[in-house]
Amino acid sequence: MNNTLLDQVVQSIDRQRLVDTAVALVEVPSPTRSAGAAADRLAEILASDDFSVMRHDADWPQTPVVIATLDSGRPGPTLQFDGHLDTVHLPFVPPRVENDTLYGSSSADMKGGIAAALEAVRVLRTLDALPGGRVLLTAHDHHEGPWGDGRQVRAMIRAGLHGDAVMLPEYLANPLPVAGRGVAIFQVTIRRAGAPVHEVLRPPDTPDVVAAGAHLVTRLHAWNEQLRQNAHPFAGHDSTFVGSIQSGEIYNQSPTECLVQGTRRWIPPGDGAAVREEFSQLLAEVAAETGTQIDVEYTEQGGAYQIDADSHLVHAFQQAHTAVAGSPLPLGAKPFVDDGNIYASAAGIPALTHGPAATGAHTLHEAVPVDELVRVAKVYALTAVAFCGRT
Ligand SMILES: [Zn+2]
Repeated sequence: MNNTLLDQVVQSIDRQRLVDTAVALVEVPSPTRSAGAAADRLAEILASDDFSVMRHDADWPQTPVVIATLDSGRPGPTLQFDGHLDTVHLPFVPPRVENDTLYGSSSADMKGGIAAALEAVRVLRTLDALPGGRVLLTAHDHHEGPWGDGRQVRAMIRAGLHGDAVMLPEYLANPLPVAGRGVAIFQVTIRRAGAPVHEVLRPPDTPDVVAAGAHLVTRLHAWNEQLRQNAHPFAGHDSTFVGSIQSGEIYNQSPTECLVQGTRRWIPPGDGAAVREEFSQLLAEVAAETGTQIDVEYTEQGGAYQIDADSHLVHAFQQAHTAVAGSPLPLGAKPFVDDGNIYASAAGIPALTHGPAATGAHTLHEAVPVDELVRVAKVYALTAVAFCGRT
């Protein structure tokens, strides 16, 4: 990658414009499923920058997705920059910039990253730096679980509104994730017939939902020990985890329900449907063993995925990262599930999550250093040049 281009990109990035964009996005509250106003704000910013903006319902008309394209006018592949504008449901913290750091709801997760990706697109246009192909900037709602279910990304994929590869500026700066586990959230409800009743007045053979819950937790714990054997060099291993068990009102009343909540995670390649089937089977066994009725709400948040470490996207990224930071990023796994899992599995395109070293995602204390936003803008611009240059 030539140094002149790096110099030009560095000089063209407008730090203040980037921060102003991030603040303008953060100041519009956008809890998941209610990110419409933030999407409108992004569309206004893009329009005022003379980008032509397309909106698409994408299965959630309250928040039509925002799509802007920078086309080189020359043949070549399309690199997509994709972000979610929605936030977890926590009290809103307004934006503020202090000590060269941006604070506020979604500054880290992930409007800061979206602003950096947008700055990269502006710079590419100013410099007419794309040798071919195009860059697609997309932003949407419905990401954060359990409120969102990823429907807008799936709808965009169904409509063909995606690139040949995608980058997601989530708050992960190191390593470069080339694999990730799938995850499902389960809420199991164990029930018995009848009403709550005093312990000593129970009819004989009344099923004990507390004992059934304990049995289920023990079974899952033992199963987790087996699942650990299923390991992947980057992504870790299969697991199941119980984070919550709730039942009963007072010490001597026999309750009718017990709620068990947790996760099931699996390594690539991994078949989400088979994982679900196996889980249902275990629940059916526990129900039969305990004389209870067991229902489950089971939500797959994202499938397991891996991308080819030798793919054009990874090479383009590492070239860009080396130009900006002096060395390539070590390869690793993505610790969380994001929309990249959906792009990789449903669209079959390489998806790379890389963004600012930001802190406090899913808390009231989100923070992202402005230097990191600028760094991400450089890496994104240079990755696009390297990726889109191949015909
Ligand atoms: Zn996020």
